[in-house]
Amino acid sequence: PPDVEELGRGAWTLLHSISASYPPRASPTQQSEMRQFLGLFGKLYPCWVCAEDFQDWMNKKGNEPRVESRDRLGKWMCEAHNEVNRKLGKQEFDCGKWEERWRTGWKD
Ligand code: FAD
Repeated sequence: PPDVEELGRGAWTLLHSISASYPPRASPTQQSEMRQFLGLFGKLYPCWVCAEDFQDWMNKKGNEPRVESRDRLGKWMCEAHNEVNRKLGKQEFDCGKWEERWRTGWKD
């Protein structure tokens, strides 16, 4: 089975890629499906300490998933990832650049 780091890289690739393909303006159904997905992801992610901390963070006031649009979801996902980066002592990522990294590609 993958270790926690390999699992994490794969999971973040999936999560940011899903954000990148999310519609610019999401319908009520799409918003509800995304909320369900994130809630279930937080339950099923097979690193249990990771999943528990992720759920705790997501359930705190102000940290609820922002699912109205691609832009909001992408920035929210970046903030969620930065929360884990801080916890692990990693560098924070500039969330103004998430789209360049995960959707449109770097300009240089
Ligand atoms: P990763 O953090 O996996 O990042 C991959 C790439 O994403 C980076 O190279 C960079 O290009 C880009 N990136 C970095 N930050 C951002 C950002 N904020 N927004 C957008 N793109 C970014 N590991 C633990 O040891 N303990 C935990 O509790 C833990 N909790 C986790 C919770 C979740 C929900 C997930 C998905 C993973 C968790 N992990 C945890 C794994 C951890 O986040 C890393 O994936 C792992 O340590 C490998 O790190 P990495 O340095 O290779 O890059």
